Amino acid sequence: MAKSSRSKTIDVECGPCKGTGIYKNFAEPDGVGVVCLNCNGSGKTKLTYRPFTVRKIRDDIKTVRLSAGSFIVTGIGPKGRSVSYKDFLSGKMPGKKR
Ligand SMILES: [Zn+2]
Repeated sequence: MAKSSRSKTIDVECGPCKGTGIYKNFAEPDGVGVVCLNCNGSGKTKLTYRPFTVRKIRDDIKTVRLSAGSFIVTGIGPKGRSVSYKDFLSGKMPGKKR
């Protein structure tokens, strides 16, 4: 099995304050901003990520199917035709129809 790559950390623009360090929403009156809780006013935050090296192997999977979705109201779980994990690893994708 491939080893996990080492995680790296970089400075990125803070999302909630869009890099300004000042947060303003409906709770703040006109012209008033508050120090962003997410970045403590610095405007930046850290992002930790692992660079991709190679697709890793799972040892708990035998069969692969497409996902019905990630939203519980519209459907979750497997759908369509399956392929074996071995076939998936050699480049095959599962089918849309069952
Ligand atoms: Zn911020």
